[in-house]
Amino acid sequence: MKLKINIAIDGYSSCGKSTIAKAIARELNYIYIDSGAMYRAMTLYALQHGYISPEGKVNEDALIPALDLVMINFRYNTDTYRYETFLNGQNVEREIRTLQVSNNVSPVSAIKEVRMKLVRMQKRMAESKGVVMDGRDIGTVVLPDAELKLFMTADPTIRARRRFDELHSLGVDTSMEEVLRNITQRDHIDTTRAHDPLVQAPDAIVVDNSHLTLDEQFQFVMSKVNQRLMTQPAGN
Ligand code: C5P
Repeated sequence: MKLKINIAIDGYSSCGKSTIAKAIARELNYIYIDSGAMYRAMTLYALQHGYISPEGKVNEDALIPALDLVMINFRYNTDTYRYETFLNGQNVEREIRTLQVSNNVSPVSAIKEVRMKLVRMQKRMAESKGVVMDGRDIGTVVLPDAELKLFMTADPTIRARRRFDELHSLGVDTSMEEVLRNITQRDHIDTTRAHDPLVQAPDAIVVDNSHLTLDEQFQFVMSKVNQRLMTQPAGN
């Protein structure tokens, strides 16, 4: 039997990272970990406790001492066959996807102490291998030894269109302009922050999916996974 590997998928906002990560995890019977959901849950906590002003300023002096009170975990839902995000025991899978959370998540994610806590948890989750994790710093900081690293990118207007269609199908009332603004803003903060910014790991394989169908992406990524698995030593 082949040993399991870890797969790190990084890239810009709304690039379809989670779609491909879930498909690969399903195919390999691996665990999918949505690291962005953890930053979103942390942001929801900060919003719920009034630690973010209406102008989007995060009160770090209040949030940092409260970090030990924040418990984030994933539980498998046997009805939907999906992992769902829990914040201090509450299912927050829907709340963390709102535009309010999207608009505030990047400043929260830029805080060093927040990152230290979540990165520690993410490293632990991947210790036994067989994990597909997506995010911004997975191949560089969380799993620098991942056996396969992908860096996903796509044209910002195409990403905004996909995200707009997704939000629209969920009944969220928004405009293309607002979605594009949010994506551009998050990309800017995520790539320029001081701690663990989004950068392509030198050994990552770039996937620009602007003009690729889901099936084309899946076939491409699976070919890389299989190449990697073939060079893995045998295990039990
Ligand atoms: O992946 P998703 O778009 O849901 O992530 C939400 C936000 O969480 C990102 O815009 C980024 O600010 C932050 N994030 C991060 N590091 C990760 C995953 C997400 O800083 N590994």
